[in-house]
Amino acid sequence: MKTQLISLADELNFAVRDAVADLAEACGGKDNCTNPSCLFHKVTRHKDPRPNPLLNLCYPSTLALYHLLEMLSDISRDEFKKTVRVMKADSPTGARHAKGAMKHFWIDIDGEVFDPSYTQYEIGKTKLPDHSLGKAYSSPHGTLKTERVKPIIKQTLLNLI
Ligand SMILES: [Zn+2]
Repeated sequence: MKTQLISLADELNFAVRDAVADLAEACGGKDNCTNPSCLFHKVTRHKDPRPNPLLNLCYPSTLALYHLLEMLSDISRDEFKKTVRVMKADSPTGARHAKGAMKHFWIDIDGEVFDPSYTQYEIGKTKLPDHSLGKAYSSPHGTLKTERVKPIIKQTLLNLI
């Protein structure tokens, strides 16, 4: 059962990356974008996202992966919550914002790492995330930034059909 979950997570991790690349292609940056609810609006000031689609999207891409796994895996909700963890650490780039250090997010399943936005650091040639520094994350307010999470979920599901 866990191997099934892990291979699904592996597949969805790539599917989420592809979906964000498709959304970046459709956006093209503020000079080209005609989507009033484009998820890149508040991300990097709507700069052309095509060269590095997942830049600053670690939270929404990770939460999209989490909810897609929840939707598409057939384990019980209880088992799912025990097994699949959202992880958080300070961003490897050392970037800060008004609320302090920027965070990097990913998914851990039994010690296996699924990090959809990892490519942003490879493309940006910055320091890479050290997943051993991660702490389990949960929000008392449920999923945040749903206006960014939902389009990624939708596009991923569209691509999988
Ligand atoms: Zn856009």
